[in-house]
Amino acid sequence: MHTIVILTGAGISAESGITTFRGPGGLWEGHRVEDVCTPEALARDPALVHRFYDLRRAALASVAPNAAHDALARLDREWGGELLIVTQNVDDLHERAGAVRLLHMHGELRSALCAACGTRQAWTGALPPGSACPACGAAALRPDIVFFGEMPYQMERIEDVLSRADLFVSIGTSGAVYPAAGFVRLARQHGAATLELNLDPSEGSAWFEETRLGRAATLVPEWVDAVLAANSPSYRT
Ligand code: NAD
Ligand code: ZN
Repeated sequence: MHTIVILTGAGISAESGITTFRGPGGLWEGHRVEDVCTPEALARDPALVHRFYDLRRAALASVAPNAAHDALARLDREWGGELLIVTQNVDDLHERAGAVRLLHMHGELRSALCAACGTRQAWTGALPPGSACPACGAAALRPDIVFFGEMPYQMERIEDVLSRADLFVSIGTSGAVYPAAGFVRLARQHGAATLELNLDPSEGSAWFEETRLGRAATLVPEWVDAVLAANSPSYRT
């Protein structure tokens, strides 16, 4: 059976009301990315960084998956071949829509990471700096977010599945953040067909065989319907 790999970014959650990474003026929720998304920022001002992710985590309570998340969850349920949804998003809208074959390469808002022992655990409330790790006791819990300069989760598994992908689809990502931005090239090297669904052409748009421009909540259900109707990963049908 055929293998489909899907990469999603902040754009797929935009219509659920979660702002994308680089909003007006290049800011994320009013902050410069380097002030909330680097190990240096966490070391310099842990109160600010923890509070920033506390607010993002709390905001999840008032949003819901949109038609694009729903469509990918349906594809996950109904696609008989191999499938992996790799998301750069730290929200939990894919799983709340019902997706299971899913991997969060940049971490999750509803998770805490122990900087001392590396244990990750579900976390839904506020996470003040100095919170104690239930596993090792160190006062070292931090938001489980992969910062710039840190290694994304499960890269070996992602590269492995990309090496046998028949189709790679990128949805709602600007193609500015590596290594995710390089997945399209890796998939092509191994012979996968490549499709981009995005509001604006991404930085790596030229690498895709086809780009469809529009809103994810419109484009993704259309594409999923076509794939399931054809029972084939060919997006040309
Ligand atoms: P990005 O903000 O850099 O790019 C978003 C892309 O989505 C843009 O190309 C834009 O044209 C497109 N877009 C906007 N609205 C859309 C819509 N309605 N339909 C389809 N496409 C739409 O996002 P990115 O590439 O994912 O940036 C990466 C980093 O941002 C990740 O590391 C991620 O952890 C972080 N981030 C995550 C969230 C989230 O979890 N929802 C939100 C903001 C930032
Ligand atoms: Zn620990």
